[in-house]
Amino acid sequence: MTPRGACPSLATPMPTGDGLLARIPAGPMPPARWIALAETAATFGNGHIEITARGNLQVRGLTPATVAPFTMAIGEGWPTDPLITRSPLAGLDPTEQADPRPLAAAIRAAAPPLPPKFAIAVDGGGALHLDALPADLRLTATTTGWVLQDGDALLPPLPEAEALATLVARLADPTRRSRLPPRPRPPAEPLGLHHLRHGLALGIAGAFEAPRLAAYAEAAATAGATALTGAPGRALLALGPLDPAPLRAAAHRLGLITAPDDPRRRIAACAGRPACASATIATRPLAEALAPHLPPGLTLHLSGCPKGCAHPGRAALTLVGIEGRIGLVPGGTARDRPARMLDAEAIPDLIASLQDATAP
Ligand code: SF4
Repeated sequence: MTPRGACPSLATPMPTGDGLLARIPAGPMPPARWIALAETAATFGNGHIEITARGNLQVRGLTPATVAPFTMAIGEGWPTDPLITRSPLAGLDPTEQADPRPLAAAIRAAAPPLPPKFAIAVDGGGALHLDALPADLRLTATTTGWVLQDGDALLPPLPEAEALATLVARLADPTRRSRLPPRPRPPAEPLGLHHLRHGLALGIAGAFEAPRLAAYAEAAATAGATALTGAPGRALLALGPLDPAPLRAAAHRLGLITAPDDPRRRIAACAGRPACASATIATRPLAEALAPHLPPGLTLHLSGCPKGCAHPGRAALTLVGIEGRIGLVPGGTARDRPARMLDAEAIPDLIASLQDATAP
């Protein structure tokens, strides 16, 4: 099981309200491997698969008895180490200043054991930059070399070997941690079409239940994708000599999100009923029903119970399932005392509560 404070991995899955959760760094893998992963997640877990804010995969609903067969069944090749996040279009993006993959591999090989959740970002300096991703140490490629950012300190650009040596030296004191404040650039937008050196990348997002993920991976293969990869921003990128129109159409058909301004991107919904035994409301259908009515800028958290798995922090409005009814928590978390209770079927009242949450 996951030691306190550590990231849940296949080796150390984390207990949650809907069973064990395992996180897998989601590097580029052929569509067929994603199809197999989706089918395996449905067999050994509850079939709820998520892509996290850092672009990792989360498989939910595993049990102590199914973690090992799940790990065996997905096969080798999936990355296991969440220490380093690198640009999702590494080596493919014509705008990147340097391919971050060799440096990321060298850091992984040289890094000493580090505290739980220590995070290093290795950013090739391309279109899908990692500026907004929290990290303890950050290396960014520029036209004059790799810039190491450590807390508020920004070192002058260094050649790759020196950047590696400097970063590894800093890792000698990993207790001196400071999650970096985001830099001024807004987060990169992974959704939509991106031009690669050879081919295209199409970014989508959404709720990736196993059948939907498998169907999308199949459509991606048919459209010419050679790989799928998770990307920061809870996105899935299809990569290759793509024909994007039929793939986008398949994403629409499957109810996935293709447009950056889709209001569903501002809703965090947990597995809910019936997937999670702790849930007393069905969160995902509620998210679909409320999304068209979400006022601009409002972030909504739908939680099947007060554990708040999908969004542990505060949201502008949280709707939490309590004994089959819905508690409204403005500006708080799923654990907070609701200001009001509504029936789960009272959709018009719930829609009105969205408007109330934005009233001055
Ligand atoms: S928050 Fe949602 S997924 Fe987590 S335990 Fe409660 S109902 Fe289950």
